[in-house]
Amino acid sequence: MLTTPETGTGDLVIVSEATCREIITEALAFDAVRDVFAAMARGDAWNFPVVREALGHADALYGFKSGFDRAGMALGVKSGGYWPHNIDRGLTNHQSTVFLFDPDTGRLRALVGGNHLTALRTAAASAVSIDTLARPEARVLGMVGAGHQSNFQLRAAARVRSFDKVVAWNPHPEMLPRLGKVAEELGLAFEAVTPEALGAEADVIITITSAFAPLLRSEWIRPGTHLACMGTDTKGKQEVDAALVARATVFTDEVAQSVTLGEAQHAVAAGLKGEHEITPIGAVLTGAHPGRRSADEVTLFDGTGVGLQDLAVAEVAVRAALAADKATRAAL
Ligand code: NAD
Repeated sequence: MLTTPETGTGDLVIVSEATCREIITEALAFDAVRDVFAAMARGDAWNFPVVREALGHADALYGFKSGFDRAGMALGVKSGGYWPHNIDRGLTNHQSTVFLFDPDTGRLRALVGGNHLTALRTAAASAVSIDTLARPEARVLGMVGAGHQSNFQLRAAARVRSFDKVVAWNPHPEMLPRLGKVAEELGLAFEAVTPEALGAEADVIITITSAFAPLLRSEWIRPGTHLACMGTDTKGKQEVDAALVARATVFTDEVAQSVTLGEAQHAVAAGLKGEHEITPIGAVLTGAHPGRRSADEVTLFDGTGVGLQDLAVAEVAVRAALAADKATRAAL
């Protein structure tokens, strides 16, 4: 049996959803995602083509996202998708699992629950963008969206800037009180506002909805705002108008995804933004791009979600679970 440094036995390591919830902190996810974005920009890490297919069963969408990070020695795949009828069975509609392999041998090393991890890695990406691109003196956070991901987004953002107030809007206003509770827990004032008022007041805006038509218009957004557009991860989705993407300096996790299935897809298709004008955020992290150049510049992070984020946070989960003696081991 092969031996790995973490287990000392070569056993398969299993980290459950419950253990992930217990051990992966926002800080661990932030560092892992920041490091892998930098590795991508240095050419040390690659995402492989994404597969996403309608199953023709249970109305499900199934797929996988995979990649290899040579710097972090993370090789693997997140497999799963969307099962819309799970809610009737008391299960989350989004279901995923991460498989990590030994890059030296191809041996399966670990299975990690991917549901909680997905929310944490998505929020970490948005927080990395705020940390890197928002004005340091940002005080008001605007939240557009109030679903499952929004709570994680708010918590992660609150770690990287000294916000004192959250202004929020959601197409379904009845969902907002849950987000308000998170703001309260974080000691932040919370106000439900119109999208126009949100644009007028916010220094940083996170959009995290399933919208297929723009919710924010360019003329509502103040100079100097940083936007993290996190909801658009599929062709056809859209959260802000193309004029705002055209006006902003745009950064992303993966340019190829940004222009095809990310928030920038519409501005690019309309000829308002060129692919060459979109910068991987990793280039800012490595110092190859200066990032924000002035206090008046509108910056926009198009967070499309890449497999390497999942692998990076899954690696953290394995290490933390083993250190806390909370991983299950099984012989393969
Ligand atoms: P959710 O179902 O819990 O919440 C959906 C949110 O979108 C709510 O705010 C809801 O009011 C709003 N919404 C629903 N239908 C809408 C419509 N037709 N028009 C406008 N708004 C609408 O979903 P969630 O888990 O919070 O995910 C939110 C979005 O984030 C989804 O689009 C999801 O695909 C995306 N997502 C992106 C990444 C990434 O890496 N970029 C990762 C995970 C999820």
